[in-house]
Amino acid sequence: MMTSDRENAARIRAVENSFGALGRSLSIAGRVLVGQGRLMKQGRQGDQPKTFFLFNDVLVYGSIILAGCWHKKQKIIPLEDIQLEDMEDSWGMRNQWLIRTPRKSFFVSAPSVYEKHAWIKHIEECRTNLLQGASRQPGSTFAVTWIPDQSAFKCMRCFKKFTVTNRRHHCRKCGFLVCEPCSKKRVRIENINRHKKVRVCRTCYPQCRDDEISWSRGDSPGGNCSEEKDVAASIDEQGGNGIHKKYYFTSSDLPEHVVGVP
Ligand SMILES: [Zn+2]
Ligand SMILES: [Zn+2]
Repeated sequence: MMTSDRENAARIRAVENSFGALGRSLSIAGRVLVGQGRLMKQGRQGDQPKTFFLFNDVLVYGSIILAGCWHKKQKIIPLEDIQLEDMEDSWGMRNQWLIRTPRKSFFVSAPSVYEKHAWIKHIEECRTNLLQGASRQPGSTFAVTWIPDQSAFKCMRCFKKFTVTNRRHHCRKCGFLVCEPCSKKRVRIENINRHKKVRVCRTCYPQCRDDEISWSRGDSPGGNCSEEKDVAASIDEQGGNGIHKKYYFTSSDLPEHVVGVP
């Protein structure tokens, strides 16, 4: 579905208005509202529904006062600062993934696995287009920045809550906060310390072990652990020209229109 510039401008104004006077202006030249929908944001105080708005350059979300009409607590995250991490379903939590930013990381979950993958795909595509298009640089601090302790109140691999006895540890590879049972393995990581084994989580271990074997044999000069696996960042629908087609999707409220990719 092609979206005219007028429709796009009207949608952005509607989002702006839904945040009232406290929201920031969202209308800037070249900005496209790609889609919107409701996701559960997991937090210390439990899960809260938030409306997420995906633009071609930022992700905006807010608390819902009146569905579809009023929002508050507007948050704006530049897409170049975002890194997504797919998460397995766990007990009581399904269709979730992690949104990492340099300052804050949080889990969100979608009503269905279909919507989860649509969101991830759309966000990845927008981010790819943004980074290809201009002088924007991907946030390069992810790999070395550990997630601040406060930002995870449960193990990011098994989702068990941290307590005084179930303590948090950092995986030296992905930076995730994980519990002891999820980070029993130790491995040498070339760019950290070639001689000392460090703690890694169960997800990172297989790759790190392979890398360790290969660089200790001298096979590869880099030995850089895998890129973050992105779920569906293929850009074949863009015709490979990097120009962002205008499309619009909604999720949650209108499940039948989840993926509006033309
Ligand atoms: Zn764990
Ligand atoms: Zn890890």
